[in-house]
Amino acid sequence: MVMKSITSYRPMSLDEVISRLSKEDCFIIAGGTDAMVQRKSPRGAAANFDKPIVFIDHLQELKQMYTIDQNLHIGACCTYKEMSEHPLIPRIVKKAIKEIAAPAIRNRGTIGGNICNASPAGDTLPLLYIYNAKIRLRSAKGERIVEIRDFIQGPRKVFRLQDELVTEIILPVIPENRIHFVFEKVANRRADAIAKLSFAACMRHDEGKILDVRFAFGAVGPTVLRSTEIEHKLTGQAFPLHDKLRNEIVADFETILKPIDDQRSTAKYRKTVALRLLRHFLESTI
Ligand SMILES: Cc1cc2nc3c(=O)[nH]c(=O)nc-3n(C[C@H](O)[C@H](O)[C@H](O)COP(=O)(O)OP(=O)(O)OC[C@H]3O[C@@H](n4cnc5c(N)ncnc54)[C@H](O)[C@@H]3O)c2cc1C
Repeated sequence: MVMKSITSYRPMSLDEVISRLSKEDCFIIAGGTDAMVQRKSPRGAAANFDKPIVFIDHLQELKQMYTIDQNLHIGACCTYKEMSEHPLIPRIVKKAIKEIAAPAIRNRGTIGGNICNASPAGDTLPLLYIYNAKIRLRSAKGERIVEIRDFIQGPRKVFRLQDELVTEIILPVIPENRIHFVFEKVANRRADAIAKLSFAACMRHDEGKILDVRFAFGAVGPTVLRSTEIEHKLTGQAFPLHDKLRNEIVADFETILKPIDDQRSTAKYRKTVALRLLRHFLESTI
């Protein structure tokens, strides 16, 4: 077998990565846990990359976590393990991380990789939508910040130019007191399994009125599904919810959830369970 050679770069700084991307179309590798599976070759052959590789996972500049002005900044190359051990990461995000893969993948896999891979089943995504996360990108021409709902455009499709690198994920902080968060992942097993579907939600209420409510569904459409229109119907309404309004919200989502049949589940199962999780959340009186 003739071995194909692959050019690879391991730049020593973020500036060097940006400069490399401005000169050459490269394939970015962070943890490699999606890339190496998608580009795998028959045993013994080099992975199937048709362009040079640039490794970024070792860069400390992409591994910082800090808050400024009520925004939590998470470096694109923070691994799940690093995030799960960091005091600034919200508890609900840590809960979602705990349900990702197994320790070996959580040691390598990064939040930036989960976003850029843009799988509808990516486990960090529903919560990132709930948080209205923003994606910071950098190229030699400068920086831009994009809302996650505009960045992820479909399965494996993101709004990233060839010379851009995702450097940070920015989460506007949601105070954890007096807000009820849920994240539910439904999969074949409790560990090391990709989601059949997932559901994230949060609700803040005070003196019997709903002040803020957000819902996001994973793996029931080409991207995570969130509807601010439906959420606005609930804002200002009495809490706990009346049956009529609860049924109306479930019916609204029933019309817009568009799951598919695939090797992991059926469209029918996904829709039924997603709507049950929603109803259960709406029935909660916490
Ligand atoms: C056995 C196994 C189990 C898994 N289980 C789960 C699971 O339970 N839940 C789940 O959500 N995922 C799971 N995954 C998928 C994967 O681990 C995650 O999506 C992970 O977050 C990918 O991160 P990474 O750093 O390894 O990405 P990589 O594989 O390095 O990159 C993924 C994609 O993102 C691009 N990319 C990465 N970083 C950047 C950046 N900073 N800027 C621009 N582009 C970038 C790459 O070019 C590539 O296209 C699993 C994978 C395996 C192999």
